[in-house]
Amino acid sequence: MINIIMAEHAGFCFGVRRAVNAISDALNNNNNVWTIGLPIHNPQEVARLESLGLHVADNAGGIPSGAKVLIRAHGESLSVMESLKARNIEVIDMTCPFVRKAQDMAANLSRENYYVILLGDKNHPEIKGILGHVIDNKNVEVIADESEAEKVSYHAKIALISQTTQREERLAKVTGILTRKSSELHVCNTICKATSERQQAARELVRNNHVDGVILIGGRESANTGKLRDIIESEGVNVLWIEEPEELNANSQWLNNKNMVGIAAGASTPEWLIDKVINNIAAKKVVKGV
Ligand code: SF4
Repeated sequence: MINIIMAEHAGFCFGVRRAVNAISDALNNNNNVWTIGLPIHNPQEVARLESLGLHVADNAGGIPSGAKVLIRAHGESLSVMESLKARNIEVIDMTCPFVRKAQDMAANLSRENYYVILLGDKNHPEIKGILGHVIDNKNVEVIADESEAEKVSYHAKIALISQTTQREERLAKVTGILTRKSSELHVCNTICKATSERQQAARELVRNNHVDGVILIGGRESANTGKLRDIIESEGVNVLWIEEPEELNANSQWLNNKNMVGIAAGASTPEWLIDKVINNIAAKKVVKGV
C-alpha cells in the first residue's frame, strides 16, 4: 500500500472558500445567479456549482438584467462594476480582501502620480481587474519577470504591485532591478499569505520527508498550482500534476516502485476532490513529519 503525506497547507484558500460559500448560499435562495467567467480555476468544482444552477457568462454584457451576479475572488475592473450598476444588476462582491488591497493600492498610488508596475500574468483576470483600477492607463505596465523588469525605462516615481500568487523570490529580484530604474520606488508586497503558505508547505513537504514523488492536484489554468509545480521540481522531486481523480488509480504506472508519496493542492482545489484522489489510489495517510 502507498503511504501518502499531505502538505501542511493544501486546497481551498480563504478567498476561494468565501466566494464558493457565497455562491452556494445565493443558489439556495435564487436560481438566477451568475458569475463573469469561471468562479474558480477548478473545472470539477465549477461543474458542481453549475449542477446547482449557477450560470457562467463570458463577459458582463452576457448577464441578463434582473439577475444576481457574484464577483469572484479575482475581482473586476471599475468599468465592469460601473456597467453592472448602470444596468441595475444586483452585485454580490466577493473580491478577495487581499486582491482588493492590491486594487486600492493601484488606484491610490496612480492618483499620487506613481508609474505603476504590476508584476504578474497580463492575461490573468486578477491582473486585468487591478489594471482596471489604475487612474491613468498610460502610466502603467505589466511585467512577467526579471527580464521584463530590465526593459522598464526610468521613471521618477515607481510603484511595484504584485499579483497575489507571485513567488516571493521573484518579487525580491524584480525589486532589486527596479531600484536602479527610479529614485523613488514604492514596493507593495501584495502576495497573499495563503499563497506563500502553500508554497512553503510544498517546499517543506519535499525537504523534510523522503517522498518518492508528489501528486499535485489542481486545475490546469490555476496559476498558483503551476507555481507549486515549479517549486517542487526545483527541489529535484518528480511531480504528477492531475486535475481529476480519475487520472490516477492504484494501478497507475506513476505509482510503481513508490512507497511514500506527497500530496499538494492548489488554492482552488476543494477538499472533496483531494479525498477522492486518496481513495482512488487506496493510500494510507501518514502523519506529517513521520
Ligand atoms: S490566493 Fe490569496 S488572494 Fe487569492 S483568493 Fe486566495 S486568499 Fe485571496
